[in-house]
Amino acid sequence: MDKIKRNILLNPGPSTTTDTVKMAQVVPDICPREKEFGDIMRKMRTDLVKIVHGDPQKYTSVLFCGSGTINLDVCINSLLPEDKKILVVNNGAYSTRAVEICQYYGLPFIDLKFPVDRLPDLETVESTLKENPDIAVVYTTHNETGTGILNPVREIGALAHKYGAIFIVDTTSTLAMRPIDIEKDNIDFCMASAQKGLMAMTGLSFIIGNRRIIEESANYPKRSYYCNLFLQYDFFEKTGEMHFTPPVQTVYSAKQALEEYFAEGEENKWARHTRVFNAINEGLDRLGFRQVIKPEWRAGLVSSAIYPDDPNWSFEAVHAYCYERGFTIYPGKISTTNTFRLCALGAIDEEDIHDFFKVFEEALKSRNIAVPVIYKD
Ligand SMILES: *Cc1c(COP(=O)(O)O)cnc(C)c1O
Repeated sequence: MDKIKRNILLNPGPSTTTDTVKMAQVVPDICPREKEFGDIMRKMRTDLVKIVHGDPQKYTSVLFCGSGTINLDVCINSLLPEDKKILVVNNGAYSTRAVEICQYYGLPFIDLKFPVDRLPDLETVESTLKENPDIAVVYTTHNETGTGILNPVREIGALAHKYGAIFIVDTTSTLAMRPIDIEKDNIDFCMASAQKGLMAMTGLSFIIGNRRIIEESANYPKRSYYCNLFLQYDFFEKTGEMHFTPPVQTVYSAKQALEEYFAEGEENKWARHTRVFNAINEGLDRLGFRQVIKPEWRAGLVSSAIYPDDPNWSFEAVHAYCYERGFTIYPGKISTTNTFRLCALGAIDEEDIHDFFKVFEEALKSRNIAVPVIYKD
């Protein structure tokens, strides 16, 4: 087979994958109801709990066929008891997505909003919990991928538990990159998708969480047929299989990606992402780009750069120039500021970022955009 062209994806997932992960999808045809396939998913469920250092008696994981948003949908519609409220600690686009899911299901929620470039105020979180004893679920996002801000999940989780609520965290853009300890971080449910930290293919998502709470949720209102956490968990426990057809080839690539994850090791992998992130920030700083999130609040995986005030600036043109040369940059996700993002996900290292900045700088110069870039004030 010809060598597969290597693209450097700096978008927030799917990420650059290894060739071994790509090729792991090419397997003999198999019916996913065969025991051989069930064994792969059984091991995968255990491995996912290991990634967040969970006690396998207390925590379990449940796989779904879908992109990462399926996890948000499943957790929110499945884990809220009747007549109870969900509190969304919201400082970005992904927590806003959770609020929209509450709206679509008609669930009672409090949208506790904070500015997208600030950390949530813990005193306000606590007073909201105190004033609303019917809050049964607290929800937030670990790394708000729209900006790259890191939320204090351990502290928010401690508050949730102090007031008798469970704590759900969208860890889609940190899991298998930035180390997480589910128990110490006071998390009851976290989640991710194979195409992000695991550096595998799209189409497989998973929720890792507290087994007892899932079992209790058997009696909660059933709000979705396809996306119910207990039903999928129960089916896995009884049969070892997904309730409906799994993404077979994606599961094979995720199996390979997990082997590569454990071979690289949590610490080494996080060190590599950190090298990549530092190289991204150095490059942006050198070219004079301003960023949305101040350095000490960054999750270390997503940089959000502000568009320069240059009449020649064109994200589309710069994107096209880089894309043709194998590098993908990505628009921002903030309604009030025009930004683009560079992310440190994937099977890449700092040399790839050095190569990227050569091309990126060429792109700026080819458009006569001033370097270093200019801002009005
Ligand atoms: C990528 C991502 C998701 C899922 O997005 P999909 O497009 O559905 O895969 C959810 N939350 C966060 C924080 C993410 O970064």
